[in-house]
Amino acid sequence: MNLDPFRDARFTPWWWEWAPRETRTKENLPKRAEIAIVGSGFTGLVAALQLARAGRDVVVLEADTVGYGASSRNGGQVGSGNQRFTVAKLIELYGKDQAQALLQEGISALSYIKAMIGAEDIQCHYREAGRFRGASRPKHYDNLARDMDDLHTFAGVESYMVPQAELGSEIGSGLYYGGAVLPGDASLHPALYHSGLLDRAESAGVRVFSHARVEDVQDRGQKLQITSARGVLSADKVLIATNGYSDRSIPYFYRRVVPVASAIIATTELSPDLMTRLMPKKRVCGDTRRVHHYYQSSPDGLRVLMGGRLAGRADTTRPQKFVHLYRHMLEIFPELAGVGISHAWSGYVGYTRDALPHINKQGRIYSAIGYCGSGVARASYAGYKVAQQMLESPGSETAWDKLVFKTMPFRSFARTGVRIVTQWKRARDLL
Ligand SMILES: Cc1cc2nc3c(=O)[nH]c(=O)nc-3n(C[C@H](O)[C@H](O)[C@H](O)COP(=O)(O)OP(=O)(O)OC[C@H]3O[C@@H](n4cnc5c(N)ncnc54)[C@H](O)[C@@H]3O)c2cc1C
Repeated sequence: MNLDPFRDARFTPWWWEWAPRETRTKENLPKRAEIAIVGSGFTGLVAALQLARAGRDVVVLEADTVGYGASSRNGGQVGSGNQRFTVAKLIELYGKDQAQALLQEGISALSYIKAMIGAEDIQCHYREAGRFRGASRPKHYDNLARDMDDLHTFAGVESYMVPQAELGSEIGSGLYYGGAVLPGDASLHPALYHSGLLDRAESAGVRVFSHARVEDVQDRGQKLQITSARGVLSADKVLIATNGYSDRSIPYFYRRVVPVASAIIATTELSPDLMTRLMPKKRVCGDTRRVHHYYQSSPDGLRVLMGGRLAGRADTTRPQKFVHLYRHMLEIFPELAGVGISHAWSGYVGYTRDALPHINKQGRIYSAIGYCGSGVARASYAGYKVAQQMLESPGSETAWDKLVFKTMPFRSFARTGVRIVTQWKRARDLL
């Protein structure tokens, strides 16, 4: 195992060099608020912003630094999340009408984030870069073409196929057997997007408290009582927005959401000529493997950011945990052999049993959770929709609230289970 490229690597998100994580520890926690939000990622902050703008007194409680979770460390790929299932599979599982409604939520999420970033004027390098999905096997190309057709028929989404002979215009790699392009997908700088949301939420009057891990939420009749590391707070309504970082403190979500570690490596700066050769259109990219990889160029166009699954716990500083990403990067772009890695980091995505997001209400406790690795647009949109539901606004329902939120079987063994399933899928990819 060659660890040389990681010699000078920092094990924190490259994005944080531009937008370091902040603390909010100076103020004392108030005794009460109308609404308490647990978790300060995209879900929590978008919801907080909407609720504060509607005149509610909102407090956000975050276990770590503000935005510590996936929201400030993800790949920055903005999509509908609809590619988690083929359209045919979704119809087989839910029937045509519900499948169409689910597809529509993904499409709405994509339009929502674009419009919201524009309206709030958040400077986060949002760019409608388009998504390239490379076919990792010859038959995957035909499957992709069929799925893109179905996506157009059932959801009106525009896309086009790129045959293998024309791949050079999309990507400087000989690895794929053609691919599909979804021109409406986008890229952004997640930590800058998160910082922009934080700024807008605080300007609207939201009070954010870092290092305030919520340990318990109890229904006390008139009020909900929230016990946190920084004191006890009572609220009329609570929103749980902890996604892949949901822990045993709120058992309902611990039993329903499994954290799966995802990791990214960033190369040191490369020449603009080389970058243009590798990714001429600067799209967000991925493949059709069972254990999916995602990659793109950094917003300054000078680095390759390569992401995929991580075996074991996130937040590791062991370079050997990232070597498989380096290896895969070389499979795609052999001419990167020997380039250094400047940053390597990881975090948790939240998986649900049906691999779909859930918006849920239990009495006065609301939640929006379970984006299964595609949460930049979907978490933002779910935060908006759940806030509308908390405000009891008409038209706030979504196809995600109608799903049965099932527990994960053998939850205590989930980490081992995820490792075994990932290894099995990797083996099938190799075969
Ligand atoms: C490495 C990586 C790459 C990814 N790449 C992409 C991508 O390219 N495109 C895409 O669409 N999605 C991607 N995702 C997924 C996406 O980032 C998430 O779906 C999305 O950010 C979820 O937002 P959230 O606000 O729901 O949760 P998070 O941003 O994870 O926030 C949850 C917060 O809750 C806090 N918390 C947990 N428990 C408590 C508690 N008891 N008390 C108080 N606070 C608590 C956590 O500390 C955390 O800050 C990626 C994720 C990772 C980890």
